[in-house]
Amino acid sequence: MSTRRVVVIGGGVTGLTVAYRILAARQDARGTKLEVTVLEERPRLGGNIVTERRDGFVIDGGPDSFVAMRPQAKALCDDLGLGDRLIPTTPRNRRVFVALNGGLVQMPEGLSLGVPTRVWPMVRTPLVSWLGKARMALDLLIPKGPTDGDESIGHFVRRRLGTEAASQLAEPILGGIYVGNVDALSLRATFPQLLEQEQKYGSLIRGAIAQMAARKLASGDKETPSAFLSLLGGMGELIDTLASAIGKLGGTIRVGAPVAAISAGSDSAKSPRFLVRIGGDAAETIAADDVIVCTPAYAAADALDTLDRPLSALLRQTPYISSATVVVAYRRADVPHALDATGLVVPKSEKRRVLAATFISSKWAGRAPSDAVLLRVFVGGHRDPGALALSDDALIALAREELGAFVGVRVTPMLARVFRYERANAQPSIGHLGRVKRARALAETHPGLQFAGAAFDGVGIPDCVRQANDAAKNVVG
Ligand SMILES: Cc1cc2nc3c(=O)[nH]c(=O)nc-3n(C[C@H](O)[C@H](O)[C@H](O)COP(=O)(O)OP(=O)(O)OC[C@H]3O[C@@H](n4cnc5c(N)ncnc54)[C@H](O)[C@@H]3O)c2cc1C
Repeated sequence: MSTRRVVVIGGGVTGLTVAYRILAARQDARGTKLEVTVLEERPRLGGNIVTERRDGFVIDGGPDSFVAMRPQAKALCDDLGLGDRLIPTTPRNRRVFVALNGGLVQMPEGLSLGVPTRVWPMVRTPLVSWLGKARMALDLLIPKGPTDGDESIGHFVRRRLGTEAASQLAEPILGGIYVGNVDALSLRATFPQLLEQEQKYGSLIRGAIAQMAARKLASGDKETPSAFLSLLGGMGELIDTLASAIGKLGGTIRVGAPVAAISAGSDSAKSPRFLVRIGGDAAETIAADDVIVCTPAYAAADALDTLDRPLSALLRQTPYISSATVVVAYRRADVPHALDATGLVVPKSEKRRVLAATFISSKWAGRAPSDAVLLRVFVGGHRDPGALALSDDALIALAREELGAFVGVRVTPMLARVFRYERANAQPSIGHLGRVKRARALAETHPGLQFAGAAFDGVGIPDCVRQANDAAKNVVG
């Protein structure tokens, strides 16, 4: 039996899922055995996903969950035998605070991606003025926008719900997910469901209400199901389980193996189609029939520079933003606030350095010993690009100051940890989908070359898994 050599570049959730799915199939449609090698630049796997466990705390530095409504990540967990490790957000704490005039107010209940689905919580909230609320209601009457072209999230929300809703709700919620600028991010590439709601129901509010009702019906539950799911041992459990499954299925994973260049094999019609050059201490060139690039776009651009310069130039156009998370733990008794929420978001108008905070031990079960709490603060992003220049100590001091202001905790934390995410947040800016389409068309001129992951069709973990599934299917046939 002949062998087809597949090289997957990048050992984040996307790359590992591609490798796992291909290996699980064992052979392609022609009966050719599939041999898979994952090459990861860093000394550890997981990319943005990093979980540390110490002193009874489970600390997710980056992603702490995935959206439940998109089925691919849950299906992957089920396939890996992690179904009974999945946990919902703690029901009693399913609320979010929003910073307002230095204090905290509850985000109106029933908001779906910043769009109201219930009247009374919206009427009562102090977050938006009466004039702002009246303007939001106009969404029910305003005609649909055009279906062609692209539009920023900010422009779209201002057009439908008005300026106040855009700054108080959309900017911290929708922009916050990308730590990005809502006036630069493409609506189509980030929240296409909002555009669908407008087009299908003629109104964002009517669309959000219909979607919420469908979700309830699908769950067969009177309670609104958890919008997010995580794993008992943190999101790192998904990475560890994928890596172990890849090993058991006979795949090879190499960490500390940065890919410097992908070039054409001697004859593109014959095997090997590609030569993959690993740089650094592990310098070596390996042959591949398929190469699946699952790195950030700028790293893919560097690796493809010699193979296809126009493709590389196109990939380089995806902007990236840096952010950091600061995780701190306190004795429960030292925090005056009830922490009865999943966390808080901070609109830009508040002029603070913190973007958001997660009350991790309130959001998820099992993240901290019962007499302690675990909190996480987000800094940097589009609003504060200078934050990453601060030392760890300065970032911890900043997080402590902000938490002091919001939840009243003043003591020294029993644990403090900084996670830096340098150029880790892809920004699907206006025109992103068109650029990805052109990049895929150029990639097709090199049979066997594929892309998947956060740089391309969606940054959420379910989107990454979906793209990984598709890439694996293309190999297996
Ligand atoms: C702080 C933060 C919080 C987030 N929270 C959530 C969340 O709660 N839920 C959610 O769904 N999403 C979240 N996201 C988004 C999510 O983390 C990512 O979109 C997803 O993890 C990306 O996975 P990936 O495998 O595509 O890319 P990455 O995780 O970026 O992995 C790419 C890998 O490629 C490697 N690499 C780069 N260059 C090379 C090279 N030349 N050779 C070899 N390897 C290379 C990198 O080292 C990295 O390991 C968050 C992101 C951040 C930054």
